[in-house]
Amino acid sequence: MLEGFPERRFQTARVTANNALATCLFELVVEGAPAFVPGQFVKLGLQVGGEPVSRAYSFSGGGGGEGRFLIESVIEGTLSPRLAELKPGDEVAVSNKAVGRFTLQHVPDAPVLWWFATGTGLGPFLAMLHDPALERFERVVLVHGCRLADCLCFVEQIKAVPRITYVPLVSREEAPGITRGRCTELMAAGVLEEQAGIPLTADHQVMLCGNPQMITDMRALLDQRGLRLHTPRAAGQIHMEKYW
Ligand SMILES: Cc1cc2nc3c(=O)[nH]c(=O)nc-3n(C[C@H](O)[C@H](O)[C@H](O)COP(=O)(O)OP(=O)(O)OC[C@H]3O[C@@H](n4cnc5c(N)ncnc54)[C@H](O)[C@@H]3O)c2cc1C
Repeated sequence: MLEGFPERRFQTARVTANNALATCLFELVVEGAPAFVPGQFVKLGLQVGGEPVSRAYSFSGGGGGEGRFLIESVIEGTLSPRLAELKPGDEVAVSNKAVGRFTLQHVPDAPVLWWFATGTGLGPFLAMLHDPALERFERVVLVHGCRLADCLCFVEQIKAVPRITYVPLVSREEAPGITRGRCTELMAAGVLEEQAGIPLTADHQVMLCGNPQMITDMRALLDQRGLRLHTPRAAGQIHMEKYW
């Protein structure tokens, strides 16, 4: 066990791959992760400056002891730049239990499910791509917004799932064939629904993941259309996972 991580909450996993996907974006693959439901997260931890440091990371895939994570190396971040440097064979502390309610099991039936992700907020949706629970929805629209086009990752895997309509967006550069802008602005302007070929209505379900500002702004837009937060006590349409 890595020093400083209590055995009642952490176990040791070993890195099997660390795949660079774009500048500051990587996929960390470990062996020794706990069982999870797609959409759940664990804490990953390392010793940083002699102190145990851990942060939450959503599974982007895996199973049977393997854990895959889509991670941004945050400039001047405490842990994520260290995770980016890990090599096959290195040890990393991982929670011994996956947690979180951002799963399809908590989403009521609906004809259409909308997924809105910014950056690495794509991770939980990648994990859900082949979740049998997805078959409850006739259509799934995945809107993925990134600052730069090379951060639009796993495009082929997403496009290979027949039920999914994929809408990539880039906010900080022009990219051929990709709409430029933030998902909240494009939603307000009606561009997203036009691209998806379907209006977002109050009988749909919506999952939001990633940047907290995107989530706050999207909630305000959805509220105007009569969609409400889904909680254990009050059934609604909006489900969210804020990354910071
Ligand atoms: C439930 C949950 C699941 C998460 N899953 C993922 C995941 O799958 N992949 C992933 O990359 N991150 C994920 N995060 C964020 C992650 O836990 C860390 O906050 C992130 O890696 C930064 O940690 P750090 O120690 O490097 O930065 P810190 O030293 O803790 O600094 C964090 C600060 O960096 C800024 N920041 C810029 N970009 C990001 C970003 N992408 N995420 C967080 N903070 C950012 C924010 O201002 C934040 O306050 C998740 C967070 C939560 C709560």
